[in-house]
Amino acid sequence: MVTKGELLYVGKAKQVFSTDNPELLWVHYLDQATALNGKKKVIIDGKGTLNLQISGLLFKELSATGVPTHFVQDLDGQDMLVRKAKMVPLEAVLRNFASGHFVTKFNATPMMKLDPPVHEFYLKSDDLDDPFINDAQVIALGISDEETLAAMKRMTDTVNTWLSRRFAEIGITLVDFKLEFGRLADGTLVLADELSPDNMRLVDADTGLSLDKDVFRKDAGPLTPVYAEVLNRLAAHPQEV
Ligand code: 5GP
Repeated sequence: MVTKGELLYVGKAKQVFSTDNPELLWVHYLDQATALNGKKKVIIDGKGTLNLQISGLLFKELSATGVPTHFVQDLDGQDMLVRKAKMVPLEAVLRNFASGHFVTKFNATPMMKLDPPVHEFYLKSDDLDDPFINDAQVIALGISDEETLAAMKRMTDTVNTWLSRRFAEIGITLVDFKLEFGRLADGTLVLADELSPDNMRLVDADTGLSLDKDVFRKDAGPLTPVYAEVLNRLAAHPQEV
């Protein structure tokens, strides 16, 4: 039994608390949605629970395939126990199809297949609005090193292969997603943060309708029924763990 300690960090969608175990953190998923780097912020009842459940289910299944993650266990309601990791301050984005900023930046045809999938890194910085950063810039600025970048790309590819298939089996196309990584005290690189429709673009394979935070970003309707639909489809076709 782990006891929740002091509040260490408040993010846009989660709060992080210490615990009485120095190796573990207590993460609380907020009923909050943000877009435009926090400039658009709304309370959405039930979102924290849905994201916790989707993230917990995907972390559990992904860990069972051998991908090292920070996930320990989901708790009641909106909380999760994770292993403490020193975060790499980068967002690792992978794009299977053109969407979002890839379309606005390059005028690419929406949903054009990107072969091979495109890796991008963004520097995590609210002050700078998470700017795009290339490998040479990461290394020159001392943010990370070549081996870590290569390992993050390999792990992102592994997650992409598994997640794309997992979603395809339930009639959902994985368009793109964002991952974050950290290092445990023993140096192991692990997948951290969350795995939910907040940080991936998902579309229904038949209708092409969005099943992710784009619904909120584009004011296309209520968010919770869409997240509930993703959870229900995943839960109805569980993977062996
Ligand atoms: P884009 O660069 O097109 O806005 O986003 C690409 C993918 O990364 C999308 O799936 C989007 O949800 C995710 N993503 C990019 N930046 C962030 C971010 O700051 N927070 C979250 N939660 N997801 C992000």
